[in-house]
Amino acid sequence: MDAQGIELFFIPDMYPAGDEHVLVHEVTGRIVPEGGIPLHVGVVVSNVQTLINIAQALEGQPVTDKYVTVTGEVGKPSTVKVPIGMLIDEILLLAGGTTVREYTVIDGGPMMGKLIQKDATIRKTTGGIIVLPQDHSLVVEKGLTWPVISNRAKSVCCNCRACTDVCPRNLLGHRLEPHRIMQAIGRGQINESEVLSKAFLCSECGACDTYGCSMGLSPRRVNAELKRQSPVQVLETPIMKNPKAPVLIVSSGEYQPSDYYIVWVWTSMNIRHP
Ligand code: SF4
Ligand code: SF4
Repeated sequence: MDAQGIELFFIPDMYPAGDEHVLVHEVTGRIVPEGGIPLHVGVVVSNVQTLINIAQALEGQPVTDKYVTVTGEVGKPSTVKVPIGMLIDEILLLAGGTTVREYTVIDGGPMMGKLIQKDATIRKTTGGIIVLPQDHSLVVEKGLTWPVISNRAKSVCCNCRACTDVCPRNLLGHRLEPHRIMQAIGRGQINESEVLSKAFLCSECGACDTYGCSMGLSPRRVNAELKRQSPVQVLETPIMKNPKAPVLIVSSGEYQPSDYYIVWVWTSMNIRHP
């Protein structure tokens, strides 16, 4: 650490940099235990937008605006500061309007984003929107219904485990094995607590879909749906049952206050103010 107590750590251009478990490991070498949060290994992760909001709140200013990146089929891809509640159509005009007649809007990134209606509004969680032609493969994939996804998983998955091999949480040592969850789907075992609790370990980063599966399947969507359908809303891992219990991934001892990290996430961006 330098004299100001701040050290810059430049991470490579990699995915999923937004998964705080991955980020903590990249910056500190520590592994957040499965089912845990960075604080369990002495780290607080906060993005710059949150820090700005905190600073403004301390001056009595509520959160009324968001920085939103607009990209894809728009005339002028940009990051703009807009009021929460603004219509998507209005923000598209700020980005130069759409360049295709028939388009679909994704709220979020290409990997984790969700399709939204054109009359939707900017929410406090909106960080970026992507405009794509309606027949774009991302739009088609994100529009698949659960019956289609589960039937494909049952009939097409060859259990090759390529999805598990690229899973960032699995690579951190967590017991998330998406190929086993896909196998369980095929066997009709989706309600078994072991399957469900492992699905809860998934960050829904989508690396398994994009970089792992050559069969066009989506372990990410399967895990997301299992979590959504689950009557069990609490992940049963040792650390959730008992914070003092030993966990599968054991961090390297207790952390002193001087060992604690605050990781601020800053993404360079080109900001325009309407
Ligand atoms: S990579 Fe695809 S085919 Fe292979 S186990 Fe995973 S979901 Fe099944
Ligand atoms: S989406 Fe896939 S790769 Fe990402 S954490 Fe979940 S199972 Fe692993």
